Amino acid sequence: MDLSENELVAAIRRVLSGADPRVAVGVGDDAAVVRPGNGDVVLTADMLIEGVHFTRPLVSPRDLGYKSMIVNVSDIAAMAASPRHALISLGLPSDIDAAWVVELYGGLREAADEHAISIVGGDLNAGRAVVVSVFVTGEVAPGGAVRRSGARQGDSIVVTGTLGAAAGGLRLARSDLSLASNAWATPLLQAQARPAARVGEAGTLAQAGATSMIDLSDGLAMDLSRICVESGVGARVRLADVPVAAELAQLAAALNEGPEPLELALSGGEDYELLATLPRESVDGARHALRERFGVTLTAVGDIIPGESLIALEPDGDERPLEPRGWDHFGG
Ligand SMILES: [Mg+2]
Repeated sequence: MDLSENELVAAIRRVLSGADPRVAVGVGDDAAVVRPGNGDVVLTADMLIEGVHFTRPLVSPRDLGYKSMIVNVSDIAAMAASPRHALISLGLPSDIDAAWVVELYGGLREAADEHAISIVGGDLNAGRAVVVSVFVTGEVAPGGAVRRSGARQGDSIVVTGTLGAAAGGLRLARSDLSLASNAWATPLLQAQARPAARVGEAGTLAQAGATSMIDLSDGLAMDLSRICVESGVGARVRLADVPVAAELAQLAAALNEGPEPLELALSGGEDYELLATLPRESVDGARHALRERFGVTLTAVGDIIPGESLIALEPDGDERPLEPRGWDHFGG
């Protein structure tokens, strides 16, 4: 490290400076002091670890910072809450220079600004790998959080956006970067480096009567299984209706033995789209509202059924078990 800790903290404070009336004491004291609103307070934390969640040569510090914030905002959104404050703790190996850390904070700040989040503090420590640990608070109207446990038999299963692009981007970055110059590669790499957190969309789904909701961090199959377990129900997914990211077809064609697009959409992970259950009669209204307000698609992909099985309905009408295999964070 080419700066002392105090010099680095001063550089970080310059990146983070800003006025927020909800923050009484921000970065620089022993602890932050924030003024709560009238709603329920929602808390989440998520850690990104070098070698587990990212590889340093493959990601810019700015994108890493941006994504570290967004994955937390996505969890706040999945409760139908709005993000408010963040704390950031870093583990930094000795070969990291100060410019890298300031860029990382630049990305964190960029994502925080997009969602009107104040970064109010955190911690810095020496470590053997880069660790970015982010804690975010949010707020939701009292009793208004949408949980994983409310799905009911007969509900429709819906997803925002398209699926599989982030996993496709990761596959691309790890295999053959000469393909990155193709026009179809850009949305895949972008989805991997700069995911969007669906905060407003989640609020709209909650207003439409969402009975359960989760953000898709580990793939449709795995995250749907979590809703089913928590709700004590089963699910049938119509594979033909899963909104597979269009560019995955080109990726599969370009890579020999490339991943099947549907498989990436079901099990790829890191899309950070929303998966929710809605009363069937609410789906059309919710779809219209999401398109009007955010330009985001909503697709009904299946139904909640009694029991506890996860079933995939093939286009030809055959049924098979939908294996809740997802993104394996421990497999790198
Ligand atoms: Mg989540």
